[in-house]
Amino acid sequence: MSGFVFSEKPIQIESGEGAYLYGADGTEYLDFGASYAVAALGHSHPAVTEAVQKQAEKLTYVQASYPVDVRTELYEKLAAVAPGGLENVWLCNSGTEANEAAMKFARSATGRSKIVATKRGFHGRTMGALAMTWKQKYKKPFEPLAGDVEFVTYGDAEELAEAVDEETAAVFLEPVQGEGGIHPATTDYLRTARELTEEAGAALAFDEIQTGVGRTGTLWACEQSGVTPDVLTTAKGIANGLPLGATLVADWIAEDPGNHGSTFSGGPVVCAAANATLDTIVDEDVPSHAASVGEYLQSEIETAAEEHDLPVREVRGQGLMLGIQVKRGANRVLKNLAISEQVLALPAGRTVVRLLPPLTITEDHADQFVDSFVEVLG
Ligand SMILES: *Cc1c(COP(=O)(O)O)cnc(C)c1O
Repeated sequence: MSGFVFSEKPIQIESGEGAYLYGADGTEYLDFGASYAVAALGHSHPAVTEAVQKQAEKLTYVQASYPVDVRTELYEKLAAVAPGGLENVWLCNSGTEANEAAMKFARSATGRSKIVATKRGFHGRTMGALAMTWKQKYKKPFEPLAGDVEFVTYGDAEELAEAVDEETAAVFLEPVQGEGGIHPATTDYLRTARELTEEAGAALAFDEIQTGVGRTGTLWACEQSGVTPDVLTTAKGIANGLPLGATLVADWIAEDPGNHGSTFSGGPVVCAAANATLDTIVDEDVPSHAASVGEYLQSEIETAAEEHDLPVREVRGQGLMLGIQVKRGANRVLKNLAISEQVLALPAGRTVVRLLPPLTITEDHADQFVDSFVEVLG
């Protein structure tokens, strides 16, 4: 018997602590993928573990229509740290569900159906979010998906201006495209998106599922542009390993969200994990740390690439969301890193090595990564 969806890697993981994972045979792996940014504070962070244990003993689950302190606390915490005005919170269990809800809320609030999304964009694997996702490989076998999605070139303000009209319910953007190869948007592009959606009466939705909770050096990536969307979705690292997604929306969207729900919305245990995660991120100013270590890591990779004449085209990204564009297949590089150097990272397309390490890594961890990278590519 085995799972049939994932192609499993030949590494058996047993435990984790901070930036490291440990194999069943005792092998130590430096984890620069953090399981797709989920282990934002590192593996088995003590504050999160304690919060989960305490809550599990008290109350594991109660439906979302009965208020419980731990969920109310999370609503308040998210509203307090949300970019201006996005104080209305919907909780769910994954990134794709957060986007699915965002699509429904935007359609309901505007009374329109058309969604504008971007080429190379990734928003999830359920039928609605998948319709906004670019890659044909993910979509083809499952068509027809939710209709009425128009794709524009990411970063092209003119194409965006042509696509956004009086029939547009929402424009969905990742402030930094993740899965699509680590491409940050310019401030000008995000500002243009803000102006165009405002003029058309459409919602501007930022998918911060990968860029959020400190990853890019600020709590939300959009803070760096000063652009506030009408909808922001988050998931991945927000509960440091427990399944939680959230859709934060402006008042005008919350006024007419339509009828939506989910049995597991805002379960106490995941809320406790998210509260502990957010407290730690805010109290210890983890985003600033991510900004400075990220800058260090990026410049060390660039320096090493030059010194050792490595087959590297470019290093790009923000904070601890970095892409190394290599002049060969990324998957082979990643395999060699894992097998020969016990360093784990992720791909983002065919030729990009994607780094999403825990936000708590030190410069020593960065040095360890760079040494291994030189070893493998040199
Ligand atoms: C991972 C991701 C999603 C989907 O999240 P899941 O929890 O896998 O459903 C959506 N958008 C972005 C930008 C992501 O990185």
